[in-house]
Amino acid sequence: MKKKPSAATVKKSAKKSTSRKSAKKSSRKAHPAAHPASDKSVAKPAAKKAKKSVKKKAAKKSAVKSVRKKDSKSAKPSQERIEKAFRYCPSCRTPNDNPGAIPFRCEECGFAFFFGPVAAVGALVVNEAQELLLVRRARDPGKGQWGLPGGFVDRGESIEGALHREVAEETQLKLTELSLLTTGPNNYTYAGVTADVIDLFFVCKVPADSKIQLELAELSEFKWCVPTKRELNNMAFPSNRIAVEKWLRERKKQVSK
Ligand SMILES: [Zn+2]
Repeated sequence: MKKKPSAATVKKSAKKSTSRKSAKKSSRKAHPAAHPASDKSVAKPAAKKAKKSVKKKAAKKSAVKSVRKKDSKSAKPSQERIEKAFRYCPSCRTPNDNPGAIPFRCEECGFAFFFGPVAAVGALVVNEAQELLLVRRARDPGKGQWGLPGGFVDRGESIEGALHREVAEETQLKLTELSLLTTGPNNYTYAGVTADVIDLFFVCKVPADSKIQLELAELSEFKWCVPTKRELNNMAFPSNRIAVEKWLRERKKQVSK
């Protein structure tokens, strides 16, 4: 296992991403799955986003309308990168001559937007027998498949705070130790718009006598196991699988020591 990263390092990077990007709101239930996410979780960031800027929404709507009127070839595709969706300045509504540029900068009013990434956490909860907790998803995406507890980091929340909160919400478990396993870029599509995510996976410990109580709206089942191909081939999100495979390699090293 890797050493626990310094809280300072984690906080620093978390701060950086939150300060640069504010639009995407974490969802309680979302999974880093590229994390990740249940219907509910997915719905939340978008709902917040919509609430956040009525202007933006209006601009987007009119942008789509006017684009359709002008030229059917440039009509909004069914799925697109978030930077491409900035057809107008969200602040002053000036049409964007260069959709897709990162960062977005409005020449009219100076408004700038960096497009993320938003942080998401995944928990590899391990028991005393060195078994991993897998949870079966009760909703799409990935309904009926295995996943890890986790979700988006809320604004104003630390990475560690998000892990504690997500795991408690989904399983009622209280984490006692966290240790960074791996991180990786990811993305997340909601309502046809794909935004950037940075996943952080932590190996987590819980007290030996812990009882799991699943959040049944989101999860239907759990099991402690050393995952094999059977589980790995039935995981909801590729990012979760990559993290579990890394954990399995580290576990093997530990065992052979
Ligand atoms: Zn502007």
